[in-house]
Amino acid sequence: MTLAARLIQEAERARDELCDLTARLVRIPSVNPPGEHYRDAAELLGGELAKNGYAVSYHAAVGRPEHTAQHPRVNVVGRLGEGAHPAVHLNGHLDVVPAGEGWTVDPFAGVIRDGKLFGRGTADMKAGIAAAVLAVEVARRAGLSLRGSVELSGSVDEESGGQAGVAWLCEQGVIRKARVDHVIIPEPLNPDRICVGHRGVYWFKVTAHGRVAHGSMPFLGVSAIDQLAHLVERARTELGPALRQRVTAMPVVPEGARHATLNVNSISGGQAGREPQTPCVADRAEAIFDRRFLLEEGFAGAKAEIEQLLAKAQSEDPSRRYTLEDLLVFHPVQTPAGSPLVAALARAIGSVYERAACLVASPGTYDHKHFARLGGIEHCVAYGPGTLELAHQPDEHVRVDDLVRATAVMALTLAELGVFAA
Ligand SMILES: [Zn+2]
Repeated sequence: MTLAARLIQEAERARDELCDLTARLVRIPSVNPPGEHYRDAAELLGGELAKNGYAVSYHAAVGRPEHTAQHPRVNVVGRLGEGAHPAVHLNGHLDVVPAGEGWTVDPFAGVIRDGKLFGRGTADMKAGIAAAVLAVEVARRAGLSLRGSVELSGSVDEESGGQAGVAWLCEQGVIRKARVDHVIIPEPLNPDRICVGHRGVYWFKVTAHGRVAHGSMPFLGVSAIDQLAHLVERARTELGPALRQRVTAMPVVPEGARHATLNVNSISGGQAGREPQTPCVADRAEAIFDRRFLLEEGFAGAKAEIEQLLAKAQSEDPSRRYTLEDLLVFHPVQTPAGSPLVAALARAIGSVYERAACLVASPGTYDHKHFARLGGIEHCVAYGPGTLELAHQPDEHVRVDDLVRATAVMALTLAELGVFAA
């Protein structure tokens, strides 16, 4: 029997455990925002790791503004075979987005129906965490022994940027290059695909400054709302076509996200809508934009283009006045070509699925950026059992067969990397 076959068999035997651990994690509604029940989720995972022989530590993001008495940001890290190489870090985020409307099942019950495990956070990404935990056990049960080391972490706030989660763990040196060679994040990118990075994110606010006047004589003032509307329209008609022309060489999925994009997240101006109104020309209006930029564009170029758009609009009409404020910047990341981690994972997918693995890049960002930029660990990928399209949707679920297979793939990858050996 081949090693792949043995690992598939052990993963099959762990089917109920995989479902049970996923369901128990789903039943803790670790909803972000605001960051509910993080400690409970961390302790559940930590307890599981301790039971499996890991040295477990908890890391609250003390000093981060998000870490409050009401909503503590608690991360958990387990270590097995500490200090030995090759060293793999398996990381999953414990937070989930709010359930939202449209569910036909209880989003926090973890029910199984027709071979699918339902619940908020099943695909994204509690099934992935369960797969990571059980992949290590499956390798051991198949008779392999640990030659390197495994770190397994449950981190917070991925859905809101990860500053109190993976970023914080990297900044504190809890996760660091000296002790980690490879990182696998079991995010839901489909179980036969390897995700090798993501585009960059630039969130910025444009404020239009007008001049207040009586609303019955708007010609005496300058409407900030009109000014902002002008700018939003120019961004759409002048910048939009240019962005659609640009294509990255990264294998971003879906196809449409291979281009640079711009979205208006929010817009507000003048008097608050619910307040009793007075007749006034709005002297202030603001819009928040979400610009996804390509590796080839870079942040400086993406920002300069916005500055030029504002400057051009102002130069054409001196009554227009805009200010620009950066809200958030995440740079694009890409796993290096020829990464041994990608090769090992591709071989494992090939053996378990009997077809070639597909390399993709994510349309959105995930914690890869922090491992790469703050942790300095370049060999990082996302690979997990869930499917991308189900993330953040009503009736989110993971196919139990995918959960089992992805666990076998992860166990085989640990063997391919030499973390486990016969
Ligand atoms: Zn996720």
